[in-house]
Amino acid sequence: MHCVFCHEPRGAGELIFEDEKLLVLLHNDWAVRGHAMIVWKEHVENVADLAPDDYAHFAAIHQRVEKALLDMTHADRAILLKLGIVTPHLHLHIYPVSASLDRPRVMEIIDGKTVDAMSDEQRKTFIEELRQRLA
Ligand SMILES: [Zn+2]
Repeated sequence: MHCVFCHEPRGAGELIFEDEKLLVLLHNDWAVRGHAMIVWKEHVENVADLAPDDYAHFAAIHQRVEKALLDMTHADRAILLKLGIVTPHLHLHIYPVSASLDRPRVMEIIDGKTVDAMSDEQRKTFIEELRQRLA
């Protein structure tokens, strides 16, 4: 089976951080500024499938990434989404949003119907800063 996260993770987004267990990507859709994914490298469906130490690692990286994203975007709230329909990798989407957004607006973001208004140059700067914060 062809797997995007195994074979071409950069096709799904900008690589921000990597260690032996997981990847952090900034998603290509830019549905909101800082739409990121934490991707477990092994084919694992659920958090329930991880050993306790591995889940502790996943959670620690999640917290670090979420803090960096909220800080950089000045968003109040991190919307979290775990689906797993397209790839067999446990991965968690993080969408930093304003706490003033209502449910329909958040659902539009999750459906990729929105695009953050930043130039390519601004996106590059954002990506670099996020990489530095997580280095
Ligand atoms: Zn894979």
